[in-house]
Amino acid sequence: MAELKLNHIYKVYDNGHKAVNDFCIDIKDKEFIVFVGPSGCGKSTTLRMIAGLEKITSGDLFIGDTLVNDMEPKDRDIAMVFQNYALYPHMTVYENMAFGLRNRRVPEDQIKEKVLEAARILDITDYLDRKPKAMSGGQRQRVALGRAIVRDPKVFLLDEPLSNLDAKLRAQMRTEITKLHKKLQTTFIYVTHDQVEAMTMGTRIVVMKLGYVQQIDTPMNLYNKPYNKFVAGFIGTPQMNFFDVTLLREKDTVKVSLPDGSKIALPYEYFAKVHSSYLAGEKPAILGIRPDHILISKQETGLKCRVTAVEQLGNESIIYGHLGGQNEEFTMKDEGKSIIIKTTQDTVVQFDDVINLSIRPEKIHLFDKESEVTLIQDIPEYNFVDSEVKGNELALLDGKIALPQAILDQVSGQKALSLEVPPHAIVKGNSLKLKVAKVEKIGEQHLAHLAYKDHFIFALVEKGVKEGDSYGFDILLDKVKIIGENLQVEPLKEKENLSGKFIKKDISRTEVEFYYVINEERIHDSVGNGFKINSVDGNECYKKTYRYVFERSKAVVGDSGIKAIADKILDYGYIRYVVAKVGEEEIMLILPEGMEANPGDEIHFALNGEDVEVWEPKNDFRIC
Ligand code: ADP
Repeated sequence: MAELKLNHIYKVYDNGHKAVNDFCIDIKDKEFIVFVGPSGCGKSTTLRMIAGLEKITSGDLFIGDTLVNDMEPKDRDIAMVFQNYALYPHMTVYENMAFGLRNRRVPEDQIKEKVLEAARILDITDYLDRKPKAMSGGQRQRVALGRAIVRDPKVFLLDEPLSNLDAKLRAQMRTEITKLHKKLQTTFIYVTHDQVEAMTMGTRIVVMKLGYVQQIDTPMNLYNKPYNKFVAGFIGTPQMNFFDVTLLREKDTVKVSLPDGSKIALPYEYFAKVHSSYLAGEKPAILGIRPDHILISKQETGLKCRVTAVEQLGNESIIYGHLGGQNEEFTMKDEGKSIIIKTTQDTVVQFDDVINLSIRPEKIHLFDKESEVTLIQDIPEYNFVDSEVKGNELALLDGKIALPQAILDQVSGQKALSLEVPPHAIVKGNSLKLKVAKVEKIGEQHLAHLAYKDHFIFALVEKGVKEGDSYGFDILLDKVKIIGENLQVEPLKEKENLSGKFIKKDISRTEVEFYYVINEERIHDSVGNGFKINSVDGNECYKKTYRYVFERSKAVVGDSGIKAIADKILDYGYIRYVVAKVGEEEIMLILPEGMEANPGDEIHFALNGEDVEVWEPKNDFRIC
């Protein structure tokens, strides 16, 4: 069994370069994981940290149940295959493969058995007496793989193993490595900058950019549901087309205005999860459509392009053009109008033709112009809901909810309020009655499409909620962003943070204990994080101030613990918070039921060491 867990892994090189940031993944036994991304994005650094060839700056790396951060590479039970094969030139293929085993003093008869078996799997039995220089690149790479196989490792790490091979051999070796993975039934982690390699080999793919993971998903999900424009553009050839657009909803259709001034009408159902603010004709968005999802039409479609080049590939053609179809010189300012179409249609298209196009509406992608994050998420981040303050209540969605004291204080004098309500903030209740038009199962979650006027409100509901039935709901206003006139009330963060020192206490000559010190109160580091902090900062750690981050629900207000001075109470009806000063810093805590606290009162809260994350404040990375 070889499961791997990368838990908030960071790599900061000695020159301060942050090569890998907050890398988290649980890799299951027998998975084929591919790290892909442009050169310099941190793929090799991550792989080398797994191999133990590069020190992990912070975070935990588990192979199986063992924390291996400080384990020697040779003890990790992994084998690594490099791009440059790293074979010994003076040894035969057999000796190259046997070398590692001989070093481990494996008996000679066992070595022979293992080498012959690996040679058989890789089909290099006839070459065992040759030296590497008498072999082709593909054969040499097989020997390198063979050297890994004989070690019978828990995990195979492969760093661009096919980069030195020509295109044909690369394609062939791709299939062979996939077969090898099936045969060996072991976990593979494979690094490449080539998205075709990633898509054809990986059971799951990690797409990286500039040291950050962009998306971890199956090949199909990366292709069909890219999280952002980067992933959308990186996966798939020819690349996805992107156009700056504005969108205007008119009843059941959405008019998409393209950069050449043309407008196409698409059914609203494909935009149902897009924030309504993008559908009012003004807010800029990016439309993404893959070349395969554009059709050439014999009829007028309202969308034209002038063909600038055609590549005939036999079974399909790639057509390059630019939108609009006017016979003008193509200039740099037209860059946003270029379009690529991939077609298997039997249409004869030639240079300079003006052709009519239509796009498959179910295949469109939309991204925010600034953040470049998708606007069509399986579970939308927010519902935009208009509301009106009416005394102590808020009128919305054809119903009313009571305004809790905490909000009432802030919205007094306001009339209309816009709310950003996340699907998890809509819960079962009595205030609003809405009809469930559809329940969509997304992973383990159930997303209800609640019919309201001409669009849907999305809520996460329990299993068993039925389509067509009406249910009562409430909205948890502490999780909602409220926007009014000169007013913006942010939803409460789930986490709090406080700063403080870090100390070591010698218990005996061999035993030490570590403590986080927050406002003079010591919190015992019960999980041995102290060693990690010490390994990041050396003995400087006892002079530094760290940022301690914890979930609010883990800070238990009671008789003992860290001292705080209550400032005010925020009453949300179903929950009350107390805003309190801890030294100079302000935090918010959950006030237990029945407890009162007046401004100026001294209160206390307890924290467990295991619930505390430690962050390095200067470079802003999580140490543990
Ligand atoms: P990739 O494998 O995705 O091409 P790497 O993991 O090799 O990228 O490198 C990630 C980033 O870290 C790059 O910007 C690279 O220049 C930088 N880097 C790699 N090794 C070192 C090092 N020893 N010291 C400083 N920076 C490094």
